[in-house]
Amino acid sequence: MSSTEKSIFERIIAREIPADIVHETDTIIAFRDIAPAAPVHILVVPKTPRYRDVAELAAGDPALLADVVATAHLLANELSDGHFRLVFNTGANAGQTVFHVHAHVLAGGLTEGSLAH
Ligand code: AMP
Repeated sequence: MSSTEKSIFERIIAREIPADIVHETDTIIAFRDIAPAAPVHILVVPKTPRYRDVAELAAGDPALLADVVATAHLLANELSDGHFRLVFNTGANAGQTVFHVHAHVLAGGLTEGSLAH
């Protein structure tokens, strides 16, 4: 993808394509994953396209990363029982397909074996 081309998440943030949005602030948006791997499967996405993955976000804006984690906790409480798994696929060989940092929040009916989303 060229750097001028918008990612799918930027298009969701811009309301160019629909999503089931469950939470939004000035800096973060959260919506249901289109291919859920758990009863509750939310993507928590910083709105800035500046960081491709969680390693870049941690280095560049640790406070925003803390906001992503706090949002995951909030949504796990609101939408499930407060217990959740947080997954950041980082790099194509780890399964990352969208290079705009995002957290997978998995909750509800998790089994021990479902480590990967
Ligand atoms: P990753 O593979 O970690 O980069 O995660 C990308 C995630 O985005 C996958 O779990 C996809 O199912 C999800 N996804 C892709 N397109 C959409 C969309 N239009 N709305 C919601 N989730 C999406």
